[in-house]
Amino acid sequence: MFLIKSLPNVKQLSNLASLRVRLTLGIASMSILGLGVVGMGVCWQMQNILVVAHKNNTHYIADRFPSDVEIYSDMVSLEEGTQKAIDNLSNSQTLLWVRDTQGELTAQSEALKMGMRGKNLLSLTDIASQPEFRKIGDRYWVLCSTRLVVKGVDLGDFHIAQDITKDQMMFWGVMRSLLMVSIIATILMTGSIAWYIQTALQPLKRMSKTTKDISPETLGQVQLELENAPSEVKELANTLQTTLTRLSNAWEDQRQLVSNVSHELRTPLTVVSGYLQSTLRRGNNLTDIQKEALETASSEADRTIQLLQDLLDLARAENGRMYFHLETIVLNELLGEIEGMVHQYPIPVEISLPNESVKIKGDKNRLKQVFLNLIDNAVKYSHSPEPIVIQLSQEKQQANIQVCDRGVGIPLAHQTRIFERFYRVDEARSRNVGGTGLGLSIVKTLVEGMGGTIKVISKPNQGTTFTILFPVL
Ligand code: ADP
Repeated sequence: MFLIKSLPNVKQLSNLASLRVRLTLGIASMSILGLGVVGMGVCWQMQNILVVAHKNNTHYIADRFPSDVEIYSDMVSLEEGTQKAIDNLSNSQTLLWVRDTQGELTAQSEALKMGMRGKNLLSLTDIASQPEFRKIGDRYWVLCSTRLVVKGVDLGDFHIAQDITKDQMMFWGVMRSLLMVSIIATILMTGSIAWYIQTALQPLKRMSKTTKDISPETLGQVQLELENAPSEVKELANTLQTTLTRLSNAWEDQRQLVSNVSHELRTPLTVVSGYLQSTLRRGNNLTDIQKEALETASSEADRTIQLLQDLLDLARAENGRMYFHLETIVLNELLGEIEGMVHQYPIPVEISLPNESVKIKGDKNRLKQVFLNLIDNAVKYSHSPEPIVIQLSQEKQQANIQVCDRGVGIPLAHQTRIFERFYRVDEARSRNVGGTGLGLSIVKTLVEGMGGTIKVISKPNQGTTFTILFPVL
């Protein structure tokens, strides 16, 4: 059973690049080739032994026959002596006959005379003096012919035919059994090889499985422990472990740097923004150009403060230092509050709520941040006045919140990447609408931090729907 399990299946076989399939096919073909060559050699050798034994027998009869005729002809005539010698040496497997110099049949074995066996033999005219193996009809023969001279008289050609059909059949029987045994041995061998290779490659598979799930956050926790692995694989695992540790340290340093820089820059920028806004508020004697310049500077300062705040949030989330003030939230009420906050947008926002209250556990401010971020994006990436629809529902044990727009949409290839930091589908457009590329990664971090999930469905030029799921209380 284990052999059947370890044989590569059709799907695995189609993956010809896999080391397991390549090694199995390679070793199995070599073994089949080796077995084939050995089998053919054995077959050829056995056939030779069989035929040679019969040829020797034929030689023996050819050598002995003239002296037998000579002995018999001391008592009877030469022709009668020849017939007696033939009768004496003939048996069920050995047929003998003599043709005189004119080609007339002068003596022959009883079986030939009765026409019982070897009917086709008498018509043969091309029998060589050296014993040869021939198939005539459905039977196998060793044939040979020699000149018969007794007491100086040329009696013509003496022919010997030995029937080796029975031996030949036995030989084929043995060969068939050998072939069956070879096929079974090959199947068992291929299965064993596949199983052995699978076992040998197991440590590599384990290593690949462990490394597949590595994320920047888990870089430092990965332990590539490979007991009983071959030394080469252990060496590879050690090298990988060292590389992962170095990467983890570098990643940690970078995170720390981002966190420190964001923190250090945010405070002075907040002061700058405050001064700009108070100057704008009090500057009655400012010219229009000065006012416009101050407004641009103020909005850029605010955008940069937001970016730094986002970076700080992400760094905190990654360090596990993002704290949520978890409480029971009635999503109907929270979305109602949001409805009151989104009047200033140029596109209407429609919020559809169910009659029953949908309660989850979450951080009120963080949840507002999530929804406002998604609504902000929906407005930014819409070019028609079609309303943005937010729909709340409860399915089974999950609260389902959808934020749908009829905007530019996101091409399929980008949909899996938009939650990455600084990833923007269209750099120029995002910059124009004031995007930093951090919004969705913050949204995802916050949603997952509160135990929810977020996914996106979108079609270019038709719109985008973000779906957030939270377990209900
Ligand atoms: P940004 O600050 O650039 O908007 P986000 O992380 O919020 O960054 O979004 C990442 C990218 O995803 C955006 O640059 C935009 O291309 C795309 N995107 C996000 N929301 C939408 C949406 N509702 N419709 C179309 N594209 C969107």
